[in-house]
Amino acid sequence: MKTIGLIGGMSWESTIPYYRIINEEVKEKLGGLHSAKIVLYSVEFDEIEKCQSSGEWEKSGEILGNAAKGIENAGADFILICTNTMHKVAPQIASMINIPIVHISDATADELEKRNIKTVGLLGTKYTMTQDFYKQRLIERGINVVIPDEEGIDTVNSIIYDELCVGMIEDSSREKYKKIIADLTDKGAEGVILGCTEIGLLIGQSDVSIPVFDTTVIHAKRAAELAME
Ligand code: GLU
Repeated sequence: MKTIGLIGGMSWESTIPYYRIINEEVKEKLGGLHSAKIVLYSVEFDEIEKCQSSGEWEKSGEILGNAAKGIENAGADFILICTNTMHKVAPQIASMINIPIVHISDATADELEKRNIKTVGLLGTKYTMTQDFYKQRLIERGINVVIPDEEGIDTVNSIIYDELCVGMIEDSSREKYKKIIADLTDKGAEGVILGCTEIGLLIGQSDVSIPVFDTTVIHAKRAAELAME
């Protein structure tokens, strides 16, 4: 079995599901006492968020790249960055290590293709929804991406940082997300990407009428598959 490297802690609330899902997948496939080999480097998220909000992406890339080096030195065969947003600096991280990064957006695009989704709604941080580093990879695979309007972007983004990343799960916020997803459906979305690793803590398939693509679940399952190949 291969060793999975995780750069986690962004936020730690969403790293817990990664650890659980990967091990559940291994248990389901191999049974008994089998569990995944994992090297986790959990960063200090406050430091990373400060880099995001001040636009110091290179500095954040340096921090995560050093974490990735540590993971590589500890024997991991490949690495997952356990946040959609910080894939913005995936190229910088990749340049600092010799093992591959399993890109969260590529794994998600594979699932969208399997379900034949041509137009998808994207929820995530304001960086993920408005910038190209994430969406472009989907567009290059022939998938149209629709995002909320300005007010919706603000709502989705602040619920992530002010609530989900600090472990607050509010019914009122779930309702807001449901409304925003309904608006995306009106704009032609045939499915919706939960493109932030905390969103699955708030909302899931049972809340939504169109297919839901939870990036945490997709990414973690992909890691388990790769480890057991
Ligand atoms: N975990 C979130 C994501 O998937 C947001 C936290 C972050 O800014 O990294 O984008």
